[in-house]
Amino acid sequence: VSRFEGITMAPADPILGVSEAFKADTNELKLNLGVGAYRTEDLQPYVLNVVKKAENLILERGENKEYLPIEGLAAFNKVTAELLFGKDNPVLQQQRVATIQGLSGTGSLRIAAALIERYFPYSKILISSPTWGNHKNIFNDARVPWSEYRYYDPKTVGLDFAGMIEDIKAAPEGSFILLHGCAHNPTGIDPTPEQWKKIADVIQKKNHIPFFDVAYQGFASGSLDEDASSVRMFAARGMELLVAQSYSKNLGLYGERIGAINVLCSSADAATRVKSQLKRLARPMYSNPPIHGAKIVANVVGTPELFSEWKEEMEMMAGRIKSVRQKLYDSLSAKDKSGKNWSFILKQIGMFSFTGLDRAQSENMANKWHVYMTKDGRISLAGLSAAKCEYLADAIIDSYY
Ligand code: PMP
Repeated sequence: VSRFEGITMAPADPILGVSEAFKADTNELKLNLGVGAYRTEDLQPYVLNVVKKAENLILERGENKEYLPIEGLAAFNKVTAELLFGKDNPVLQQQRVATIQGLSGTGSLRIAAALIERYFPYSKILISSPTWGNHKNIFNDARVPWSEYRYYDPKTVGLDFAGMIEDIKAAPEGSFILLHGCAHNPTGIDPTPEQWKKIADVIQKKNHIPFFDVAYQGFASGSLDEDASSVRMFAARGMELLVAQSYSKNLGLYGERIGAINVLCSSADAATRVKSQLKRLARPMYSNPPIHGAKIVANVVGTPELFSEWKEEMEMMAGRIKSVRQKLYDSLSAKDKSGKNWSFILKQIGMFSFTGLDRAQSENMANKWHVYMTKDGRISLAGLSAAKCEYLADAIIDSYY
């Protein structure tokens, strides 16, 4: 008898489990709209040209594979903070940002969660309802208590702004507030600039600490700067904050696991101390981060020609998603005779669309139509092609009614 008899079967991951179900489906019409990964119009994975160029540079230089320092590649840490805050941001000149390389967005969130657990043992974190499913796992495993603030209003398929403000206001002083910097996952609904200001007002008033998850910089608007404007606005107000960054989506570096955690402090001295503790947390977890993705990002962001080429490729990716979004809306509007207004799809931004389909309807999408999506009703438009929009519209309408 196994010593592991007491270990029960873990449930499938609600997002990555969708890919497993997709793989097992043998129907030719099958469509994977579960995981947020960019596909070409032929529904193939895409390696950015700038990434290939950066990889060639690394190879040509014959660089070695020695360990990175615990905090990661210095050239990466420099450019990642610049990309986020803007090169000339005084917070960088004042050396008030503690940045360490992380294992992509997830690993960066996890390190920050460990910092919160260790140094803010009486604080909780508020996360949006709904949010990316892994947020709950991350804070659970790090033993950081969390609760939810209202975000999505099913009646309007829009933002429940009043509810959001009320819940942030009601949280105990000094709570952490997790915010999606742009392109909210799973809803695709972001606050307007005016709403962001009001969110900053209540957070500031309550002495809360904002914690931004920036997994889609460039993917919301197509512009790296515009998509960082929420974070930069909070920083300009002199607030202390945390930011987890990911290069999975915007540079297509999913499997390279490259990202960063940034802690903006009110003094350089505090930033130095925070950085030392981030390193102390990282060392027993994974010792030091992987080198390849860090070099790719450092080269792309740090080389002007590659940087401008990256922006073009990002606009291309964001543009393709916008065009299938439009096409899906057009197909739904043309086919649906019920008079339902589908325009909420056009208002959403980023990789995802929140369709309003419930669990049973999402299951019908998979079982009858071979369309795989998360059970909360989210579809990844990055996995949709123009050629499949009509088919998807048929599937959605059939499942809806
Ligand atoms: N945060 C959000 C909101 C995300 O959607 C994702 C990716 N799905 C991540 C973080 C982290 O992804 P990764 O670990 O690949 O960077």
